[in-house]
Amino acid sequence: MRGPSPFWIVKCPDCSGEQPVFSRAATTINCLVCGATLATPTGGLAKLRGERVRVESA
Ligand SMILES: [Zn+2]
Repeated sequence: MRGPSPFWIVKCPDCSGEQPVFSRAATTINCLVCGATLATPTGGLAKLRGERVRVESA
């Protein structure tokens, strides 16, 4: 049972802002508020620097 890859809601460790991050992000994701790196691509599931607060289906 594998649906579409979900989005993760990630909390920025620097400003505590939350934003969606594609779980299989292919590029580095930066915080929209402060520009801190939130996730880096690995070729599979993105590696998160921030805290994943919840998951939303795509
Ligand atoms: Zn931030």
